[in-house]
Order: sequence, then structure tokens, then C-alpha cells
Amino acid sequence: MKYEKPVITQIHIGKMNKMGQSLTNKCRSDIDGVKIDDIMDEFGSPVFIISEKVLRKKYREMKRAFTTAYPNVEFSWSYKTNYLDAVCATLHQEGETAEVVSDFEYEKARRLGVPGNKIIFNGPYKPYAALKIAVKEGARIHIDSIDEIIDLELIAKELNVTINVGIRLNMDTGIQPKWSRFGFCIDTDQASDTVKRLLETGRLRLTGLHSHIGTFIMAPDAYAVQVKKMLSFSKLLKTRFGINIDYIDIGGGFPSQSRLKGVYLPPSVAIPSINEYAESIAGSLLADLDPGFYPKLIIESGRAIVDEAGFLATSVHAIKRLSDGLRAYVMDAGVNLLFTNFWYRYNIETVSDSQGVLEPCVLYGPLCMNIDVLDELSYLPPLKRGDRLVISPVGAYNMTQWMQFINYRPPIVMVTEQGDVELIREGESLQDICARERLPKHLNLEL
Ligand SMILES: *Cc1c(COP(=O)(O)O)cnc(C)c1O
Repeated sequence: MKYEKPVITQIHIGKMNKMGQSLTNKCRSDIDGVKIDDIMDEFGSPVFIISEKVLRKKYREMKRAFTTAYPNVEFSWSYKTNYLDAVCATLHQEGETAEVVSDFEYEKARRLGVPGNKIIFNGPYKPYAALKIAVKEGARIHIDSIDEIIDLELIAKELNVTINVGIRLNMDTGIQPKWSRFGFCIDTDQASDTVKRLLETGRLRLTGLHSHIGTFIMAPDAYAVQVKKMLSFSKLLKTRFGINIDYIDIGGGFPSQSRLKGVYLPPSVAIPSINEYAESIAGSLLADLDPGFYPKLIIESGRAIVDEAGFLATSVHAIKRLSDGLRAYVMDAGVNLLFTNFWYRYNIETVSDSQGVLEPCVLYGPLCMNIDVLDELSYLPPLKRGDRLVISPVGAYNMTQWMQFINYRPPIVMVTEQGDVELIREGESLQDICARERLPKHLNLEL
């Protein structure tokens, strides 16, 4: 029988009801020792809070898991998961390169000081001008379509260079829904026919393979399948075209400790540890590689690192009783700030240790829209106007997908490792939002 390394996973089981939730009120009064009340007194409500300590810790855990399992690993930060300068800079300081999926993200990484050759340029829409700059600056470009091959050939001709490129692959890894819209399929001949086309003019050199199989993937095995398929594709490239690739980029998609709606077990039980993903990926690589040959493994880290580092502190604005008797709270933050609320149920904790019997209640946001519901059914002690709640984990995708719709977006602060509170994004003002509007002369109001 094949030897399998043991993996130790800590399981936390507390008191549960039939939905797997604990029925005791949870309170969180501080973040890394800094009182949430003090932060809210200074910066107002609502306010996003990022823990630098958790961010670094999550990254280091992931790094340790992969680098102890495989000798040649690069981590690249997925900008779209959270592209705040302070978050990106923290992860670049830790050694991550930048993974971007648009010209805006590319420019943001460059502005922060990331050199072009430390940027991976992914995504289905790379405008010609942006692609040309990325080529000039030596970025790793992952081709998504034949049209992009055509663009790159033109750029190579214009600049009179040969361009190193990677291609994006898609495949069935047993995960539903199967993502087939990005890159080229390796379960059919599509991908190898594309490579044949890519090599035709001699201006493009294929140096790497990329694929990103989905997000919040709860099955480490899916990555083992992905790696196996990518490796056998690289062997096919070698026999068919004589190509040796330098790297295998397996994307991201590792889950955070968030609770997907419809999954009733608590995340600490339902979510495999990052070690299990690392074992699965490295195990699959090492099983199929030729001895002594270790192509670079690239991990595009995203939600698994930043989600738990993010908190949203919010206050009760109004208290109501619905016609069916349910208690309802109108909070000052809603789905405008928590876009991921449509898929995940967060931890909702009181900031002060409120006593009292837990009561079922519904939490609404501030929007004048029926869908603005933070939690359809929470169990909280009775809250007064102005009482504060803290919602987590919210570090992934919310601070990039948030909407300005009818309200200003609030400030974001970082609790540093030293315990200081740094403002990392100011709250918006009318000026920010109106600065780009122009009123045609004939519409000037003379009131
Ligand atoms: C979004 C994205 C990631 C990061 O995904 P997570 O689910 O946040 O880990 C990595 N690579 C690509 C290509 C992406 O589009």
C-alpha cells in the first residue's frame, strides 16, 4: 500500500443546536488587544477593521504548509480579493508577488512599487494597451483566449521581441459547477491545439501552465486531480512539441473559516486545514514528477489569507417589532458593504458583554431595499439603540465589491502588530463622489 503522511487537524466542538450553532451569546470586545469601542469612538460607525497580525499569521501558515511539502513555491497575492494598499503591501513585504486580473489592478500594483516581473497578469479582458505595457515590463501573462494570442503576436512584432507566456487551462476536477469559461480545456484537444497555434509564428514561447478551478473549494482532492491533469498535459507538451515548462500555477480557491449558506457544520469542522490542501497538491506533484525536476509551483492566495483578518463594526440605528412579532434591528451597515453576505453567514458578536436571554431577531442594513438583510435569523441579547456588533470574517471580496449605492463607504483602519490603529482608507465624502460629475450649462439651477 502507498504510504500516506498523517495530517493532524484540530477539531473544536462546542454546544450546538440542530443547525450546528452555539446558543450562547458571543462577545468580542477587542481586536488584538485594541478595544473595538475605542476604534468606533475615534473613527465612527460603521468601520472596517483589518488585523495586520492575523493577515501575516494566515500567510505564514499557508507558506509553511506548502514550503514544507514542496521545495519550489511562489505565492502571488490575488488583488481582486482585497486590493487595499495596506493589505497588498503587507503581503508583498511577506514575499508575495502580485496576481492581477485587470488593467486597473495592474496599475495599482505598479503604483505600489511592484515591478512588472513580479506581476502575474490573469483574466479574460486584457486591453491591448495594458497588455503591451505588461509585455514591456516583463509581467507573466496567462493567455485566456485565441484573440489574446493574436494580440500578443502583434505586440511581439511591434516591439520586435519574443514573449514568454503561460496559458490558462480548465478541466473537470469533480467540482461543481465546473468552470469552463476561462482558458482552454485539457479534457479535450482544445488546449493542445491552442498550443500548436501559439507556437506557429515563433514569437511566443510557452513557459508555464495556469488554472484556477473555482473558489471556496472544500475538497482538497480536487486539487490533486487538477495537478495530475496539468502534469500529464505538460508531458504531452514535451512529447508533442518538445516544450519544457518552468512553472505550474494552480490558482487559489482555498476556503476561509466562513460559513457557506446551506452548510450547517461550523467551519472549524467543515473546512479542511490548509495543510490538507498542501499535502494533496504536493503529494500529487511529487508522485508524477521525474526525480530531481521540481518546476515552480505558484499559489495565487486569496480569501484563505485575508478573510479572517477583516471585521466590520456596526451599530444599531433603530429597533422595530415586525408584524409577526419578530424583533428587528436596523443597522448602519448592510449588503452595500458586505456583498459576500449573499453566500456566507458571518459570525455576529456583540462588542460589549450584554447580559440577557437570547432572542431571535433579524438584522437589516441601512438601504431602502428589501434585499438588504444582514442576517435573517440571529440569536442576540436584547440590544439598545447605539449598541455595537462586530461582524466577521469579512476581509475577502467585500472591500473590493462594496457599493457606494445611496451611502458613503466608511473608513477602514488597520490594527498593527504593535497595537496601533492606522487609518488605511478614509471614509468617503460628497466631494469624492461628485468630483467627476459635470453639469451641462443649460441645466444650471437658478433657484
Ligand atoms: C480570484 C482568483 C484567485 C483567488 O481566489 P480565492 O478564492 O480568493 O483564493 C486566484 N487566481 C485567480 C485567477 C482568480 O481569479
